[in-house]
Amino acid sequence: MVDPACMKEIKLAVSNFAVPVPRKGSIETHSGYGRASDVGQEIHLQVQSRKAKLDSTYRFEVPVSHDFEFGEYLFKVSGRIDGLYETPKVKIEEIKSTFNLWDLSRKLSDPTLIHPYCLQLRTYGYFHWLKNQTLPELSFHLVSQRNGESCDVAIDLDIASYENWLKIRLEELVRETRKWEKKAAQRRKMADSFEFPFVQPRIGQVELVEQIQNAMNTKTRMLIQAPTGLGKTAGVLYPALKEALSRGQRVIYVTPKNSQHAVAEDSVSRFQDRGTRVKSLTITAKSKICFKNEPLCNPEYCEYAKDHYTKVDENGILQMLAKKRKLNSRTFRTLGQRFQVCPFELQMEAAQEAETVICDYNYVFAPRSSLGRISETPIGQKGKPNLVIDEAHNLISRTTDYYSPSLSSVVLDRMRTSLGNLPKRFRNEVELLLDSSIQTLIACRPEGTGTQSSRIDPPSEAFLSQEAELRNFLFRYLEADIEIQPKDPVLRLCNYWSEFTAALEFVSDRTREEFFTSFQPHPSGGTVKITCCDASEMLRGCYDEYENVVGFSATLKPFDYYAKLAGLDPETLKVAEFASPFPKANRKLLIIPQISTKYSERERNYPRIAETIRRIAILKQGNYFAFFPSFDFLNRTLECFNTPEGFTVLRQEKEMKIDALEKVMTHLKEGVQPTLVFAVQGGVFSEGVDYPGKMIIGAFVVGPPLPSFDLEREQMRSYYEKRYGAGFDYAYTYPAMAKAVQAAGRVIRSESDRGIIVLMDNRFIRNDYAKSMPSDWFDQNPRELVSESILREVSDFWACVDSGTIISQ
Ligand code: SF4
Repeated sequence: MVDPACMKEIKLAVSNFAVPVPRKGSIETHSGYGRASDVGQEIHLQVQSRKAKLDSTYRFEVPVSHDFEFGEYLFKVSGRIDGLYETPKVKIEEIKSTFNLWDLSRKLSDPTLIHPYCLQLRTYGYFHWLKNQTLPELSFHLVSQRNGESCDVAIDLDIASYENWLKIRLEELVRETRKWEKKAAQRRKMADSFEFPFVQPRIGQVELVEQIQNAMNTKTRMLIQAPTGLGKTAGVLYPALKEALSRGQRVIYVTPKNSQHAVAEDSVSRFQDRGTRVKSLTITAKSKICFKNEPLCNPEYCEYAKDHYTKVDENGILQMLAKKRKLNSRTFRTLGQRFQVCPFELQMEAAQEAETVICDYNYVFAPRSSLGRISETPIGQKGKPNLVIDEAHNLISRTTDYYSPSLSSVVLDRMRTSLGNLPKRFRNEVELLLDSSIQTLIACRPEGTGTQSSRIDPPSEAFLSQEAELRNFLFRYLEADIEIQPKDPVLRLCNYWSEFTAALEFVSDRTREEFFTSFQPHPSGGTVKITCCDASEMLRGCYDEYENVVGFSATLKPFDYYAKLAGLDPETLKVAEFASPFPKANRKLLIIPQISTKYSERERNYPRIAETIRRIAILKQGNYFAFFPSFDFLNRTLECFNTPEGFTVLRQEKEMKIDALEKVMTHLKEGVQPTLVFAVQGGVFSEGVDYPGKMIIGAFVVGPPLPSFDLEREQMRSYYEKRYGAGFDYAYTYPAMAKAVQAAGRVIRSESDRGIIVLMDNRFIRNDYAKSMPSDWFDQNPRELVSESILREVSDFWACVDSGTIISQ
């Protein structure tokens, strides 16, 4: 017997406690595994309030709990009963909303299937029996999400068979708890011998590590600006991981793009090369890893969803994964094919095993994401993981985008062209649905607005009723026996509409000023758009799932702006900036304030810009980028550009295909001919890409790419002015400067790089713009970067580079 005072307490929600042993079932909305979905919450509340009004014995959201002693553990299981009738024979009721009443009621009443929902309801019944020694009635109240119809499904509670399951489940829980306790102990041990992967850290790297360690000692969140070349990925990941391991925990490492996962994977490989047994797991987006044409996760459509949980358990797949050190899409796809299970779900299930989980921002910050699973801590482990946010300057735009969807009549109209492959019986109906969707959208157009965009009230009712029409149709469509093709037009239409209405419901619930809705007219109808100016309030809650938070990037200044809009409290946040580890003499950084890219002055500046680029580029043969504020600006400058002899000119196209991008990269890499690439700031060539060695020797940054002065931006400006007292800076200056600094940062990426960076616009010398610049760009004032004799200084620079002499700036 274990002394009760020495027992280890383990807290568990009923939904995690009451599951079949072993796991059985398929991936589907009502699988009963994982976090409850938000879908149907509204219906849930409506049913509860209606029942409470009709019946005075009805109580809802009744908290219940019970402690089970088993082995050395005390399992404290708690939950909330949806509805409880305090009648002579107590009735306990769980409410479930579904699109297919018949299917769910069949599953819940099938005695051969032990559905997790039934186990959960029986657990509530068992708690009641333990307390009162009377058997309650148990029933599900099922409500259709399609038409509001409902039905009740009663289930029995046989104490003897429940206790049989209970014994097996408690034994399993003890095994699981011991397993995860052991894992936590191994991690703590790992932390003791966890060494920095480089024998000789780079300049600044030691300080970076120390600053993060100090911040984590006091649980202080951090934003770090550090340039490329400092080794910041390893410099941030190392202390974050060491601290997490010391608590038996993990690191969740998020990036804005999948293409940036490789850098983090590389860092973990270096830790592994030093003998540490840390594992990395990279999560691939569902749309990319899914084996089917469309990720429709239900057993009727997808053979990998069918009996997924049963197959994973029977084949010991999670045990196989636990033995691997690097888990990525290849691993999950191979196992998925071999055992006919879903690779996406497998990676989510295995995420607890890895010390570093590398994934997209979505898994931490997206609303309604299935994805909150990533930070869950397994039973038997304490504390929370650490969160590392790579390229954190993207956080503001990525997260406001989550809440800023739009619906366009042009996009809807274009969908008609892909209806050809649909069976005839559906085609006509989809045409009509497209018509009514466009009509619903056009009805938002305010009277007498001409071609101007205008603010409108959120059009909730009409859009939600169209949503119901579309969902009804979708349900029938998916039920029909047809082969779903990639980019299925019905799925596209329904997803397009429902993403918008989900945001609309979110916004309608709030009277907050950070959202507004606008209508932009178009000859074929128009676009309705919700704009979120500020997602900081939604982000704040996301951080609470983590013990420590570190965001880093090469452009996070001014820190105050990034902290506030990222939902981090500037009062308690620690910030740090690190200088480039490379000598200043390796680069020539100039501002040309004689050039103006202001809208009103552009026309006369296009030829000057073109000529300046030409005259500077011919001083040294090599590859250069000219980064412009927009495609229009790029094209206008290119029209008056006189290509220097021997040079090739390439240009970035809007929506460039991957092959074309790779062609440019290969061309630069081969370096056969000096080349000028005309590209845009904030695009694929100016951020998140490296140009090692002599791939480029210079960048012209033509003006800070200020967003257009349209209704949306102006509304944002007034919101920021009111909320933060810095309207123009927040709406225009800082977002533009982040892009300009990123573009400038392409040139010097390694020890051996030499190159020029030319900032062309008089706004670059202004203090409000200079606030966003790295502090090692100038000593006191950006005017230090203005040259009296540009061509001579650039020539001298290249002469020094060619002769191997070092000059100081
Ligand atoms: S394979 Fe695709 S459709 Fe099937 S369950 Fe996985 S993600 Fe869903």
